[in-house]
Amino acid sequence: MDMNDYQQAALRTAAPKEKYNELFHLLLGLVGETGEIAEKAKKIVRDKDSDFSQWDIEDLKKELGDTLWYVAVIADYFDVPLEDVAQLNIAKLADRQKRAMLGGSGDNR
Ligand SMILES: [Mg+2]
Repeated sequence: MDMNDYQQAALRTAAPKEKYNELFHLLLGLVGETGEIAEKAKKIVRDKDSDFSQWDIEDLKKELGDTLWYVAVIADYFDVPLEDVAQLNIAKLADRQKRAMLGGSGDNR
């Protein structure tokens, strides 16, 4: 599926961006969904000796999708096509790799 097509589909279930506190809602939702993934990872660490081969992949796909939905809608909030987000990210990482800067820290490596 094309990323911009996905974004348009995601927007069909989003609230209008003019809704009171909508950006706040979306940002909290993104953190919540990524937290759900971390929580499930924590349970694998705690209960399954960190054996991530036991992760329920269908459930993981659902949670990653929930996260993607928030990313897509937040990007649209600022009129940014999701394709632009993806392309910028890949270009940034490729540049870091070319300069052997994938490790380390800092947003603008
Ligand atoms: Mg979820």
